[in-house]
Amino acid sequence: MKLNNSIKKKIRKLLIPDNKLLVFNLHQSTPAFDPQRHGKYIWSSIEFFESQIRYLKNNFELIRLDKAIHKLRDGKLKGTQVSITFDDGDISVQEYIIPLLEKYRIPATFFINTSYLSSDSKGYWFNIYNYFKFGNEKQQRYLTDDIKEIAKKLRNIDNPVFYRENYKKIESLGKYIEKNTNFYVTANFLANLNSHLFSIGLHGHEHQRFSMMTKEWQKNDLNRNIEILSKFKSFIPIFAIPFGKPLDWNSNTLEVCKELRLEVAFANGGYNIKNNFGLLRIPVDGINISQKIADLSPFIKKYYI
Ligand SMILES: [Zn+2]
Repeated sequence: MKLNNSIKKKIRKLLIPDNKLLVFNLHQSTPAFDPQRHGKYIWSSIEFFESQIRYLKNNFELIRLDKAIHKLRDGKLKGTQVSITFDDGDISVQEYIIPLLEKYRIPATFFINTSYLSSDSKGYWFNIYNYFKFGNEKQQRYLTDDIKEIAKKLRNIDNPVFYRENYKKIESLGKYIEKNTNFYVTANFLANLNSHLFSIGLHGHEHQRFSMMTKEWQKNDLNRNIEILSKFKSFIPIFAIPFGKPLDWNSNTLEVCKELRLEVAFANGGYNIKNNFGLLRIPVDGINISQKIADLSPFIKKYYI
């Protein structure tokens, strides 16, 4: 027998526990979309973003991620509590997002790649490639057929040798980006964050697919990330794995996190009811959050081992 949709929805609702932590994951938000700077799936208009945080503020208790984890650990989480997080430290966090979060007094956590905090470094292969791909004719000329082929493969390829041999070929184009073009927040900005509202977590020194790197690379990269971020008063020892999907990390990643005593955050959906190893986050860039909550699945995927 086919169940109709409203019955399905009711059953789903009954199966979802009352006490849970929802961790939302966002990236970029500006008044207008600029293909040289913004990714289709990681951007929302600032107007839409404001409507979403207003909805959250009016309907839920918003709590900083580190505090939420303590509550999970102590079994003190009551009702649906919400934490919001931003990955990458996009410059729009500094220019548009933080002013809104401060206006509504909304706590948040920012997962930062420390390699791009200086304006000499323009970022990693994804944002650098898009800058040239959607640039003017002169900028597009830097993209040879070889580079275009590499760019197509890096996100999903399951071949560590190919990945390691090629990602820097795209990143080396960063030197042709105008000096005053900045993609990410600065160290000075992080140092002055309001530490009552905001915390800073780890996102790798470099934004790479950890699954494609040796264990030694992963450990060195995270140690460098910790070394730089732990100097900020808002630092919390939580590592949001870059990209965050199952093919982007491996058992070495989790071992390194355990060795360094870090909490781990994924980016692949689901809510948290216990302090399991591995925090589940729900990506919501450009997505209607109230709809997302209504559509939550009661079946929590287990991505950790
Ligand atoms: Zn990221």
